[in-house]
Amino acid sequence: MHPSAKIFVAGHRGLVGSAIVRNLNSRGFTNIVGRPRAELDLLDQSAVRRFFESEKPEYVFLAAAKVGGIYANNTYPAEFIYENLVPQANVIHASYETRVKKLLFLGSSCIYPRMAPQPMREEFLLDGKLEPTNEPYAVAKIAGIKMCQAYNRQYGTKYISVMPTNLYGPNDNFDLKNAHVLPALIRKFVEAKESNVPFVEVWGSGSPRREFLHVDDCADACVHLMLSYDESEIVNIGVGSDVSIKELALLVKSTVGYVGELRFDTSKPDGTPRKLLDVSKLEKLGWKATIPLETGLRSAVEWYLKNR
Ligand code: GDP
Repeated sequence: MHPSAKIFVAGHRGLVGSAIVRNLNSRGFTNIVGRPRAELDLLDQSAVRRFFESEKPEYVFLAAAKVGGIYANNTYPAEFIYENLVPQANVIHASYETRVKKLLFLGSSCIYPRMAPQPMREEFLLDGKLEPTNEPYAVAKIAGIKMCQAYNRQYGTKYISVMPTNLYGPNDNFDLKNAHVLPALIRKFVEAKESNVPFVEVWGSGSPRREFLHVDDCADACVHLMLSYDESEIVNIGVGSDVSIKELALLVKSTVGYVGELRFDTSKPDGTPRKLLDVSKLEKLGWKATIPLETGLRSAVEWYLKNR
């Protein structure tokens, strides 16, 4: 990518898109294009095509997605399938029609089977049944991967797909109901500390295990792969280690400085028992995560306190 190449970051205000923009800026890329939803609705196929025809981006990071935690995925399945399938199809097809040189599609670790052996290797995709709480989202993401691969095969395009693990960092969603576990717990512990509440409710049993990657690490991996990886096969992006939800809650508790108790609400779903990515392929491609969970969590808490 030439430093002045025109790069469209779809979803440039979101958790991942904004981190990709920061990373591109720090690497000296100067011609980055983004559009807020009010100006470009990615659900609108002709608007997307007009945008690509007039802007003619050379590179595309497809980081626009409808995302949310276990409650949101389980409660709004129709929105999660529609608002992922349609925008990604519109952006990928418009990229093909306007001869975009390369596109990077962001998937998710929930594309892997619920009971996949751990850590999950790229070849486990479509080897078994999905986790029901986020199946519509996962099916949309799998369709995005297959669309990139199909266009590469039939049209000779260069569309790569990456599968990040659970992400956190600046511009995350801190909604108590709809967020993912890490931002939700930051907010719960901060608010409980401030109002001297004696306990914090943690959903589920606390035993599921998740892997957490700081979004600045994820963005750096995405740009690294955009610059160096050209194959159709998916690539996992993670740290290669996980923690239980109970361990995470205790870590957030101590980072925030809360002194009360944890209470596990087992009427809430646990979801997938474990989601840990095998990152050996990414490491062979020359990239490794650098932000430890303790450090990343501290900066995420600071960001939340400043920007809530
Ligand atoms: P998942 O990775 O798709 O299951 O999505 P989440 O990040 O929403 O949830 C991960 C795990 O954290 C699940 O086992 C949840 O039940 C658990 N969890 C515990 N407390 C919370 C909370 O306050 N919010 C969310 N979203 N999950 C929580």
